[in-house]
Amino acid sequence: MKILVIEDEPSISNFIKKGLEENGFEVAQAFDGEMGVRLAQRPDFAVIVLDVILPGINGLEVCQKIRRELGVQTPVLMLTALNETDDLVTGLEAGADDYLGKPFKFKELLARIRALSRRTGTQPPPANLLKVSDLEINLDSKAVQRAGKPIKLTAKEFFLLEYLVRNKNRVMSRMDILESVWDINFDLGTNVVDVYMNYLRNKIDKPFDQKLIQTVVGMGYMLKEA
Ligand code: CA
Repeated sequence: MKILVIEDEPSISNFIKKGLEENGFEVAQAFDGEMGVRLAQRPDFAVIVLDVILPGINGLEVCQKIRRELGVQTPVLMLTALNETDDLVTGLEAGADDYLGKPFKFKELLARIRALSRRTGTQPPPANLLKVSDLEINLDSKAVQRAGKPIKLTAKEFFLLEYLVRNKNRVMSRMDILESVWDINFDLGTNVVDVYMNYLRNKIDKPFDQKLIQTVVGMGYMLKEA
């Protein structure tokens, strides 16, 4: 079982690492918030131990970012030197699952980590899914379904759909789409975007009453959540 420790003070970080390793855990260390955010996106951590006071982006910001922007579900145990209710509330609002005031006894840290990891252990790992209305995209298996019906897409159609879903409710210009999906960043005078949008519409919208892909005249396309 792997634990990520995000803490800038090497003595504390190494103390936690050593103790956890003695108890059969594997430990990865991040020494600042940015590195923490990067590592936290790996799916294999059972628990993230996150210190509030970090250089650069602090622990609260790290927590918000991984939860709200990156959708990371790994349980977070927040460490704080400031044993105050305000910080506890802020931490929990930022998406932390539990919190431990510094200084702490290792035994207590271990108990909290075990409790949090059991909590993940009992839940199936969340599938890597994107959802809009009744449309579901599985980013791992690349399977797409709408209203429970599987839809077969080509690779390009899939990436186009993924792009639209990730930018749902926003109008994306043809140029934005060309750049992101085809990696073309100059105006080729091509209508490839419209052609593919048409393929995609035939598959994900045509058989259904509710249309998700909207043309915004003179501006581009938008996938709109109903
Ligand atoms: Ca610190």
